[in-house]
Amino acid sequence: LAQLYGPLNMLGYIYRSVNQSLVDTEKLLKLLNEPTEVNDKPDASDLIVEDGEIEFDNVTFSYDGRTTALNGVSFKVPKRSSVALVGESGSGKSTILRLLYRFYDLKDGEGRILIDGKDIRDVTQASLRKAIGVVPQDPVLFNASIGYNIGYGKFGSSADEIETAAQAAQMHERILSFPDGYDTKVGERGIRLSGGEKQRVAIARTLLKNPPILLLDEATSALDTSTEKDIQKALQHLVEGRSSLSIAHRLSTIASADVILVLKDGQIAEQGSHTELLAKGGFFASMWADQISSTEDGASVAKTEAVV
Ligand code: ATP
Repeated sequence: LAQLYGPLNMLGYIYRSVNQSLVDTEKLLKLLNEPTEVNDKPDASDLIVEDGEIEFDNVTFSYDGRTTALNGVSFKVPKRSSVALVGESGSGKSTILRLLYRFYDLKDGEGRILIDGKDIRDVTQASLRKAIGVVPQDPVLFNASIGYNIGYGKFGSSADEIETAAQAAQMHERILSFPDGYDTKVGERGIRLSGGEKQRVAIARTLLKNPPILLLDEATSALDTSTEKDIQKALQHLVEGRSSLSIAHRLSTIASADVILVLKDGQIAEQGSHTELLAKGGFFASMWADQISSTEDGASVAKTEAVV
């Protein structure tokens, strides 16, 4: 029996890992609304992430071979730093996340995407996706307990670990207010969570997954000030010590990012820190001025799409 236990345990683990990656993929597919079209190379190796430095090197990409979604895009996300993507609708923000998650492979001669110097076309998709945590705009929850929904981030996570993650994600107190605490069923057949609560569950789940790289797509819907603050706090915990790429809609995120990339028609129109871009007095500066004047408390959703 003991001899059987090891392989069975391993099978369970593999099942969970595959399932985990499918769920992550499914969430991202939902977020990005795309099918995946990529196959591992026969000699693909597992990605080993040490620093988590991301590099887009002269990336050009077209979905249909006619129109260009990205055109000669180059940038780096240095290890453990945060990069915010801003730009009007259709400027290429989601395409950058899709390519990094490898829903599409770049064609030869159309640039490279590297993680710690390794071309992501040469690694297994499973190892790539294991290294990347995704917090989508509208996270998908299982019809299961809230504890299960958080614990899914890490196979075999204990009640203590789940609670610690929920605390860091600013969800613990809220969960304690539910009729059965962490055992409360959520989703279609349980209590319904608000968008901000679902996002904090996804943040807690990703904290448990503990990936070195993060892809974040902020919700565009307006949140009340206290929810906004809770989400910002939760995100601070999540982003700390990891390399992150966020599609940013909020002033607070944009201002706190290490580097901001301003996209326009599939190209990087400007890039720099918030202070650098404001001092430059260009595209981003006018966008910022417009946002400040259109928001009362500086915490509501930024209208990047309308003004860039
Ligand atoms: P939004 O803020 O509206 O989400 P975005 O900045 O994320 O926009 P992308 O979704 O990256 O923009 O789109 C970049 C370009 O690629 C756009 O011109 C878009 O029309 C095009 N595009 C996106 N997805 C597809 C697709 N599946 N097939 C063909 N073209 C696409």
